[in-house]
Amino acid sequence: MVTKTLTSAAIGINSFKIEVEVDVINSLPSLCIVGLPDSAINEARERVRSAIKNSGYSFPTGKVIINLAPADIKKEGTNFDLPIAVGILKEQGIEIPDSDEIAYLGELSLDGSLRKINGTLPLVSGLKDVGVKNIFVPYDNAEEAALVSGVNIFGVKHLNDVVNHFSGEPLKETKVDISNFFVENLEEVFEYDFKDVKGQQKAKKALEIAAAGGHNILMSGSPGSGKTLMARCFASILPSLEKEEAIELTKIYSICGLLTNDKPLVTERPFRVIHHTASQNGIIGGGVNPKPGEITLAHRGVLFLDEMPEFPRQILEVLRQPLEDGEIVISRTKSSIKYPAKFILVGAMNPCPCGFLGDREKQCSCSEYQIQKYRAKISGPLLDRIDLFVNVPRLTAEELVNSKEKTECSFDIKKRVIKARKIQMYRYKDENIYTNSELNPSQIKKFCVLDKESLDFMKLASQKYLLSGRKYNRILKLARTIADLSNDENIKLSHLTQALQYRVDSIENI
Ligand SMILES: [Zn+2]
Repeated sequence: MVTKTLTSAAIGINSFKIEVEVDVINSLPSLCIVGLPDSAINEARERVRSAIKNSGYSFPTGKVIINLAPADIKKEGTNFDLPIAVGILKEQGIEIPDSDEIAYLGELSLDGSLRKINGTLPLVSGLKDVGVKNIFVPYDNAEEAALVSGVNIFGVKHLNDVVNHFSGEPLKETKVDISNFFVENLEEVFEYDFKDVKGQQKAKKALEIAAAGGHNILMSGSPGSGKTLMARCFASILPSLEKEEAIELTKIYSICGLLTNDKPLVTERPFRVIHHTASQNGIIGGGVNPKPGEITLAHRGVLFLDEMPEFPRQILEVLRQPLEDGEIVISRTKSSIKYPAKFILVGAMNPCPCGFLGDREKQCSCSEYQIQKYRAKISGPLLDRIDLFVNVPRLTAEELVNSKEKTECSFDIKKRVIKARKIQMYRYKDENIYTNSELNPSQIKKFCVLDKESLDFMKLASQKYLLSGRKYNRILKLARTIADLSNDENIKLSHLTQALQYRVDSIENI
């Protein structure tokens, strides 16, 4: 008799239903797994054998054949232990129903207890999509699994719990109220707060616009100008994640095993800092068993590149695809994996190799050639994907000491950002986007309509600054955000001139 037990395999952040077929034939005792398993699944043989014996059940005496179907999907990970063990127990005559509505996920210890696995959320979510109603997962993954509504989740501590569940001792269903994770905090305290940044009004305004519309920004300034501090403060003015965004991001963190036990849902936008010595796989994703890289961990949040010209050219160039498409495709021998990577790029750089070009107190010691070479490290096509360029001058010692200016705190800036985001969310409710930066060319035509005066101005600006189509569209999107921050329904000339200023304030002009 062949038994069938359902489980799931992850590919990227998606998953597919897998049938675990178990058959026992009269032959010398052995256990083999077929159907494109990776080495971790092959090791399941020993774990499952010990777990079944140590849970008090007998192991089949013939040859046990496990088939993971469909065979053309490569299976990775340790979540196959539990469905394989359940399949063998069913084959042994233990009363566990064969059903298309029940699935199992989990890694077994040798004593039969269940260990936490990675990727529970995408695995459960994929099973729900194909009509599975009841899913057994390791106890420590149950809350995460229960984030998926419309399925019954049972947290399993030991293999015996599954057998007992079907013989009169049912497990209690795990339920989670997702809204409990989104408690609005009215007096937020931030580790990095704009109230601690003196001066720099123009840069602060630029960062506010970037946060409001999801625009990429590059800050140039001497060492000590505070650009790194401001980049860190940027996270404090971003709105909390929407529920759908939180689920999407949690799937990524689940696959990477980065969810903590006390909080199964990611609710804060990520702020990922990458160093110029990081490997390409670490930044972009990939490897023998492909894993998402930093750009995917920064999805719906911020990717911060300090000292941008120090990054190897090829790393900066591979950022172009995700910056344009909001995702990254990683090629493998026989297939490719797609990971989401929609982030706000915040870059920082010195104006020249020594760092003091344009400084009011220190003299720059670089030659014209050195300066050109340094700036050329960031290619034109990459610069094309950045919407805001801002010069961050170093304050003089006197300005720092004598400043009596009252600085605005992050929370007040964040309130304006949230207001502008709400306007965008309402406007784009039927467009499947959240922010102005995501507008495609046809949406720009629809939502960034210019009056005659503004059109004339943009024509002149296009000629003067030799704006490409991409740059032109980016200016319109930026102007749309500036209009939203001032609660203006239509883009006005004043919004366009501001947007153009941030755009042409590029590193060539600093
Ligand atoms: Zn210099």
